[in-house]
Amino acid sequence: MHSFIFLFKHIKYSIMKIGKYSFGIGDRFAHQGEAQLSAIMQASQFLRIDIVPVWNKSNREHTIVHSTQTETRREADDAVKALNYAGDYFVDADHINLYNVDHFLADSDFFTLDVADSIGKKAAQDDIDAFVDENQQYTGKLHIPGIAEPFDVPQSALTAIAEKFLFAIQEAGKIYRHIEQAKGADHFVTEVSMDEVSGAQSPVEMFFILSAIAREKIPAQTIAPKFTGRFNKGVDYVGDVSQFEKEFEADLLVIDFAVKQFGLPDNLKLSVHSGSDKFSIYPVIGNLLKKYDKGVHIKTAGTTWLEEVIGLAMTGNKEAIGLAKAIYAGAFGRFDELCSPYATVIDIDRAKLPLPEEVDRWTGEKFAGTLRHVPGHPDYNPNFRQLIHVGYKVAAEYETAYTDALKTHKETVGRQVFDNIYQRHILKMF
Ligand SMILES: [Zn+2]
Repeated sequence: MHSFIFLFKHIKYSIMKIGKYSFGIGDRFAHQGEAQLSAIMQASQFLRIDIVPVWNKSNREHTIVHSTQTETRREADDAVKALNYAGDYFVDADHINLYNVDHFLADSDFFTLDVADSIGKKAAQDDIDAFVDENQQYTGKLHIPGIAEPFDVPQSALTAIAEKFLFAIQEAGKIYRHIEQAKGADHFVTEVSMDEVSGAQSPVEMFFILSAIAREKIPAQTIAPKFTGRFNKGVDYVGDVSQFEKEFEADLLVIDFAVKQFGLPDNLKLSVHSGSDKFSIYPVIGNLLKKYDKGVHIKTAGTTWLEEVIGLAMTGNKEAIGLAKAIYAGAFGRFDELCSPYATVIDIDRAKLPLPEEVDRWTGEKFAGTLRHVPGHPDYNPNFRQLIHVGYKVAAEYETAYTDALKTHKETVGRQVFDNIYQRHILKMF
């Protein structure tokens, strides 16, 4: 693992550095580490694209599955050992805050500081005044190198941004310092996330958020804004692709400028949350990264577990197919309970969900085709897919009956996981 020295307001800092491209591979049940890692290794070997794997797991997932970060760490270490993988890898404490970070300290070396809930709370007036003062030079016409039109930043806009975001970034500072004290600055990577909110952040807001991050001396290497459009779990992007393209490009240039202005780590890059399956914007992202020679972190929506269900349906084994169908039936019957924690990141048309009795008559292939994300496939149903996606609680309740089935059908399941990451994600993005 390379350490990396950078200057923060003329003081030298040493931090653990993450590579240019990285992929967050969430894995609800911690059984697919090898299949996931082999897709990454395949990309390195055959495409010469080095992607750093990051096993991410959020507090919300751990609570629902009753798992711990120690299991995530073990999954990652075991996969690395089994495949003789020699590259860097990380274990991400995903979407953590000051109240739950302690459970993650020992086993994580990547921390996603989630401050979405603090956005909109006001910082102390003195802090707001000082921040506005320090950023005076960027008011009026803000020229970002590479962007033709300057942004209008009246004094009132800067004040409004400070009032909306400064407190949240101060919170991130508290979490960061808590982790730093426990682990030491050069033993982890820091991400700041603000994606789980309703409104997207503009490039100008991003610029001043980065100013606030530098002010808190958080050596962020990845930042997850809320982009324009819907990033629903496990399905394609919904929104205006050309608007997304414009904002994504502006964000890249804003980061570049902010790194120089505020002395942030020079490998600071965007993190795209719920980034799996966003097939219609992958070419846009891929082209812009190439154009500006930038890195990215793509955090998946934890869809690996859907590949497990697809794999079970593909086994030709009656029991395994029955289990896949039972998981759907269970999720169908508990729609409101399962969907409500994910309300901002799913869109399910209930009228388009097949009845469990009907699904019961399907072949395994029909089930797999309905669930697998192949746009244009006659059987593919994004409503069915999103419902099963949030239904991992149902699978978790099967306990060892579910995980034993994964072990019995390891090969078929692993093949789905591999193909999904390699064919539908890595090849489409890069
Ligand atoms: Zn997120």
